[in-house]
Amino acid sequence: MTPQQVVLRLGELTLKGRNRHRFEQAVLQQLKRVLRPWGAIKYEKEFGRITLHLNGTPYEAVREPLKTVFGIVSFSPVLTTELELERVQETALLAMRAMDTQPRTFKVSVRRVNKSFPHDSQEMNRLVGGYVLRAMPDLKVDVHRPEAELKVELRERQALVYSQVDRGAGGFPLGTNGKAVLMLSGGIDSPVAGYLAMRQGLAVEAVHFHSYPYTSERSQEKVKELVRKLAVYAGPIKLHMVPFTSVQTKIHETYRENLLITVLRRAMMRIAEKLAEVNGAGAIVTGESLGQVASQTLASMNAIGRAVHLPLIRPLVCMEKLEIIRLAEAIDSYEVSILPYEDCCTLFLPPSPSTNPNLKVVESIEEGMPWLQEEMDEAVRNTETLWIDTDRRAEQEDRFSSFF
Ligand code: ATP
Ligand code: MG
Repeated sequence: MTPQQVVLRLGELTLKGRNRHRFEQAVLQQLKRVLRPWGAIKYEKEFGRITLHLNGTPYEAVREPLKTVFGIVSFSPVLTTELELERVQETALLAMRAMDTQPRTFKVSVRRVNKSFPHDSQEMNRLVGGYVLRAMPDLKVDVHRPEAELKVELRERQALVYSQVDRGAGGFPLGTNGKAVLMLSGGIDSPVAGYLAMRQGLAVEAVHFHSYPYTSERSQEKVKELVRKLAVYAGPIKLHMVPFTSVQTKIHETYRENLLITVLRRAMMRIAEKLAEVNGAGAIVTGESLGQVASQTLASMNAIGRAVHLPLIRPLVCMEKLEIIRLAEAIDSYEVSILPYEDCCTLFLPPSPSTNPNLKVVESIEEGMPWLQEEMDEAVRNTETLWIDTDRRAEQEDRFSSFF
């Protein structure tokens, strides 16, 4: 017997107050995107949850895609059966036997929505539990801390039975907390920062600075590949490719001492902020992590962050490198990130970058660069924007279809 439905549980915060409808809509939209290949599936919204009617689609096919939808805390494959005691008992046993790992203890929780069903929920707990115990004598009942909970819902027309609980992606539905630009390098950290920002309900547009031809086309390809990994959780994502060579070269002609990185990073921040403004984004997300490198001390983050007014979101700021790597592996970006690439910022690296930049000094250096604003504006004007999707073919189709 294969599951006919999937029950998806939405996060508690998703359910509160006036936002509920908007949150549910955002989850539905993402669900329809990830389940698009399975056209037979029907969607039903109920209070606090969404039910998928599989209509023949195997549960195993939808299980992994469902784990990429933010706002879903957990989900369960559901067996449906007629409203008859014997049917419910048999189905309950099937659901217990179908679990991935067999529990040692369990309890039955029956909810009787249909009051015309002849046995009340207390009686049903015993009738169903007893039946399962007779068939699986190694199992024990534990009503306080069971390893598995067998749920039965007696609805108007049918009974639902489920016991397996798969963990969802959690977080807030995508975009329900607004939009941010993600400063995306080719490294390990920023894709993870992007994932965490999206999980917290931020839609993202990626911004990448390159110094072509000093940095290769291959490193641009690598960044696109990283955006493809993020697109698994979001659908098509905008990628802004900022040509940084000219800004960088001009800055380097004027100043090449130990505050160079700070000055470059501040220019990147300002450009990112401009792109955020133009694209209606309300924050800048970076992959900075406290103490990792010279530019990520408190003093550096302060000097760099003061270049802009938008909130800076640094999801990794207090995470250890190992935790970050584990997340990078989980979202499948790690393998791409460790491919060799040249970062624009490693181009004209000073011999000893300052770990304690003084904001006043940095600002006075920038005052000696009256052309800086115009250079940054020029970089914004020359920024190329692409739509990136999970696979290249979809990207091309997108571009093609936009002609019609
Ligand atoms: P990552 O692993 O994300 O490259 P990192 O530990 O190497 O981070 P830095 O190189 O100091 O740290 O960069 C800090 C942050 O600045 C990055 O996480 C990213 O958000 C941003 N950044 C750095 N280089 C670029 C770039 N070329 N384009 C866009 N953003 C960048
Ligand atoms: Mg880096």
